[in-house]
Amino acid sequence: MEQKQWHLLTKIIKTGEGLDLSDIRTPGVPIFQTSNYLYEDVDSGTDILLSKKPGHIYARYTNPTVDTLNSIIATLEGTDTALAFASGMAAITSTILAYCKAGDHIVSSAYIYGGTYTLFQNQLSRFNIEVTFVDPRDHVAIAGAVQKNTKVFYTEPLANPTLIASDISFWHDLARKQQAKLVIDNTFTPPPIFQPATAGADIVVHSATKYLGGHSDLIGGLVCGSNQEIEIVRPIMKTFGPTMAPIIAWLLIRGIRTLGVRIERQNESAKSLASFLSGHRRVKKVFYAGLKDNPQFELSQKQFNGYSGMLAFEVDGGWHEAKTVMENLKTILFTVSLGDVSSLISHPASTSHVYLSEEERRKIGVTDGLLRLSVGLEHIDDLKADLDNALSKI
Ligand code: PLP
Repeated sequence: MEQKQWHLLTKIIKTGEGLDLSDIRTPGVPIFQTSNYLYEDVDSGTDILLSKKPGHIYARYTNPTVDTLNSIIATLEGTDTALAFASGMAAITSTILAYCKAGDHIVSSAYIYGGTYTLFQNQLSRFNIEVTFVDPRDHVAIAGAVQKNTKVFYTEPLANPTLIASDISFWHDLARKQQAKLVIDNTFTPPPIFQPATAGADIVVHSATKYLGGHSDLIGGLVCGSNQEIEIVRPIMKTFGPTMAPIIAWLLIRGIRTLGVRIERQNESAKSLASFLSGHRRVKKVFYAGLKDNPQFELSQKQFNGYSGMLAFEVDGGWHEAKTVMENLKTILFTVSLGDVSSLISHPASTSHVYLSEEERRKIGVTDGLLRLSVGLEHIDDLKADLDNALSKI
């Protein structure tokens, strides 16, 4: 039917379809809130699906806003490319599923985010993928954990929540020797603090929910690597479907643009709070890689450019005392997340690591008196006063 013969209701649907955006230029990145795309002819659609031709066909596979985010992240992490996911856990799970099949083995640091620990411990075993947990500082034990079927080595450069450092060049050498992949979760140490790919990581994953987003307003994950590695992960994303939504990519792009200034300030404030807490009579121990008396200070100095806004401390007492501190804070918020412009405190034993047994928590230093602090952008004096006041209530 000729266009001019269309009924009114048809006309209002057809107006705006196939909008040509080629003459519109903007300083910010627009949201392409679209689930599918028009393509030239029927053959082109098949060619795009089979990756024989560039272009967009369906937003579970690609979306211009998400693609722009991927380019930004690849630049940030110093990799060829990146893939965005619906959450950090989706990014981690997809990477593992890309590299491992039934009968394979993973060597993982035991000092990792509780959700990842639970994935490795409780879920991968259902698919007959075995994980050996190691202390990332014990190089003899790590080498001893390697098996013929080890396909992946996994660690966090600064562990959640105890900030134990992993020597990434050691992990890299071991992974190369075994012809296995090195996967690094860089959530706690985003660039400019650390670029794991330049230290030999095959894949860098992020919970973008944290520092990259930076405002506690989104859930997202990222996988960064060479073109070759990403092409191994991409089919998992396409078929399992944990894709990032365009609006989340748009929010993330906004967040990442201020990452540098946020991290610089958070870095400075965390350093100051770490030394303040080290001298506090109600604090038993401070976990912060930038303290000179930290046994890993030298490694951390060499490997990182700053330590982000993360630190942890053990209060003088157990769960009751930790709870007293959290409930008496007036500026710092108690919540499970991190990397926000607001300072956030969490109790790992009852939140991020609650699914681990008491014995498993004890082994990795997640005691009942441990609190994890993610330092935000508030004035340092207000943060010190808030902590001092809450600690005095013990
Ligand atoms: N990795 C680390 C280090 C984390 O702290 C978290 C969440 O806290 C995750 C991964 C999982 O990320 P998400 O909550 O975005 O799935």
